[in-house]
Amino acid sequence: MNKTAVITGAGRGIGAEIALRLASDGFNVALNGQDGGRLAEIAMKCKKFGTEAECFPADVSKHDECETMVKRIKERFGTIDVLVNNAGITKDGLLARMSEESYDTVIAVNQKSVFNMMKFCCAVMMKQRSGRVINISSVAGLHGNAGQFNYSASKAAVIGMTKSAAKEFAPRGITVNAIAPGFIQTPMTDVLTDEQKAAVLSLIALKRYGTVEEIAGAVSFLAGKDAAYITGQTIEISGGLTI
Ligand code: NAP
Repeated sequence: MNKTAVITGAGRGIGAEIALRLASDGFNVALNGQDGGRLAEIAMKCKKFGTEAECFPADVSKHDECETMVKRIKERFGTIDVLVNNAGITKDGLLARMSEESYDTVIAVNQKSVFNMMKFCCAVMMKQRSGRVINISSVAGLHGNAGQFNYSASKAAVIGMTKSAAKEFAPRGITVNAIAPGFIQTPMTDVLTDEQKAAVLSLIALKRYGTVEEIAGAVSFLAGKDAAYITGQTIEISGGLTI
């Protein structure tokens, strides 16, 4: 029987590519996002690899929606072997002018979602005594970024959650790791101005932006057998943005 991977925010960008990569690795994929139409398109592409793919639209910031979704995934596929917490948003702005709504929403979608999904998926993994969790953080969570107070807070929290959960779940055979991408070309970064993009590019040692495939490749590695002895770690993939 194929193993099952759950990917949040799988309708586009990094999450869509992770879903395709894990499907090509032979995982059945449970695709989450809020836009059911986009998820259906990605599911069709995943199925071309000969594995099963099904959409589970839900808002991952909502505890009850995650509980229902994970129950449905378990009923549909029987196991949950890999969880990729990828869903995320930005609501950038300077701290002095940041609204409470911008702060709360980003924390709920980027940070609370990781609690929600890990709580319910890891309950299944604990019974199996095996599992892999891969949380998508950001260089902003490691190093901070002006104009991203809320986003940096949420992504730094994800790294702390990753380390704590790695310690908690290690006795049950579950590894928990994080990936901290730098600037990756996706709809999330397409909204930046040319000046903002140029400013980032000047700081990247490899002098190019990252691709979604380069993040999906690292997820594939962390989900695979060669990463069995890695837990509680954060892999920065930023083309040398911070060296
Ligand atoms: P993206 O293109 O904007 O995609 C984000 C995905 O998250 C969308 O598919 C969106 O689906 C989903 N999502 C948002 N809110 C959700 C919610 N409440 N419930 C369920 N799904 C939700 O962004 P991306 O660039 O691929 O980023 C993916 C992850 O990488 C994020 O966590 C981001 O913070 C992180 N990251 C990205 C970069 C970068 O340079 N792109 C750098 C560092 C970290 P719906 O539209 O259907 O809600």
